[in-house]
Amino acid sequence: MIDFTFSPEAVDLRERVRAFCSEKLPPELRRIGFMENDHPPRRLMDEWQRNLAEKGWAAPRFPAEHGGTGWSDELHYAFEREMALNGAPRPDSAMMMIGPTLLQYGTSEQKSEFLPKMLNGEQRWCQGFSEPNAGSDLASLKCRADVDGADYILNGSKMWTSDGHTSDWMFGIFRTDDSGRKQHGITFLLLDMRSPGVTVEPIVTFGHRHNVNQVYFDDVRVPTANRLGEEHQGWSVAKYLLTLERFGTAEVSRSLSTLERLKQHIHSEFPEKSRSIAHTLLLADLVRAEAELMALEATEARMLFGEDGVEELGAEASLLKIRGTEIQQRILEIAHRVLGDEAVVKRPDGNEEVPRLSCYAADARFNFRKTSIYAGSNEIQKNIIAKAVLGL
Ligand SMILES: Cc1cc2nc3c(=O)[nH]c(=O)nc-3n(C[C@H](O)[C@H](O)[C@H](O)COP(=O)(O)OP(=O)(O)OC[C@H]3O[C@@H](n4cnc5c(N)ncnc54)[C@H](O)[C@@H]3O)c2cc1C
Repeated sequence: MIDFTFSPEAVDLRERVRAFCSEKLPPELRRIGFMENDHPPRRLMDEWQRNLAEKGWAAPRFPAEHGGTGWSDELHYAFEREMALNGAPRPDSAMMMIGPTLLQYGTSEQKSEFLPKMLNGEQRWCQGFSEPNAGSDLASLKCRADVDGADYILNGSKMWTSDGHTSDWMFGIFRTDDSGRKQHGITFLLLDMRSPGVTVEPIVTFGHRHNVNQVYFDDVRVPTANRLGEEHQGWSVAKYLLTLERFGTAEVSRSLSTLERLKQHIHSEFPEKSRSIAHTLLLADLVRAEAELMALEATEARMLFGEDGVEELGAEASLLKIRGTEIQQRILEIAHRVLGDEAVVKRPDGNEEVPRLSCYAADARFNFRKTSIYAGSNEIQKNIIAKAVLGL
């Protein structure tokens, strides 16, 4: 049985996080966070990252010698929860994915070269995994990296690269050998996005968004020193990173924060006496979503620090990803229904600190359809669970 009451130390940390956010979180960024926008402008993200680095909170989970805090699991949990509740942006992909992977697989030279720049926001990273014909079946990727002296030469293309147009570096997987099993012969490389031969083309998605790109490589040289792990063994490195990505996609804290604001909105805009049957039905849906979210929160907490907690997250991350994204989408769908027609209109005066839900409800609902696709689609997560847990 887990005690879900925060310890005095965690309560104190939550208060310090609240104070820090009210002083150091740029108001524009907080507003964007509450609007569920997961791609804030880079200048704001850089400012926020510098503030976090100054405070020593840029990458709390890193080991202390690499800028981490040495906190207990409970303090990390309290920190992440409070950050989300205060509208802080999601941590950068460097902190969530490539940073921890570098810590696991990087050489000491690679760690000292890249980690400090990630921490202070000097280097932003994008992920080059998917290709036009390699998404769910990622191991069938074809983008080549051929050895030429002290370099690899890249040719081919990567697809759906989030933030490829604003990132400085890419971590990616490339085909170095195709003579054996498709999982063999994949190599994990780190490459400078300003290298000659890299072209980034926008992919404009629903609502005229430009967050994702197709990236082309035309004889791009990458030093072999920028390889993470052994040559041809990049699949293991990629799998490690993907598990971290899935775990982060569950977004329990964000959903709690969104749900809380949605409830406040309903209570203030539709007082009990004026509620129609439609409102009551909506509230029933909301209560169901809240109950499911609470169950997921308990599951996440049990995995993180319960007695039956797991040392390494595998199928557990897949389970959290499926439930987390389903609930997140359900809450945003309810938000859209609550706001009705109003939800499709963006307010022209978007300057208030906490905007009305109508600013973003439709936009967020449709944008977050992506979460059940990326980081490995939910169908693929079910396959992973079927294999790893059920032995099918
Ligand atoms: C907004 C967005 C951002 C992204 N950002 C990045 C990024 O930064 N970097 C990156 O590398 N990739 C990124 N991706 C790519 C993402 O990881 C892939 O879209 C995803 O893995 C699915 O691959 P696919 O699009 O090729 O679809 P497909 O693999 O073609 O799948 C199509 C459909 O078939 C289903 N399906 C496929 N195979 C099976 C199976 N064996 N069993 C059951 N169902 C199956 C899938 O679930 C899906 O519903 C992003 C995607 C999106 C939408």
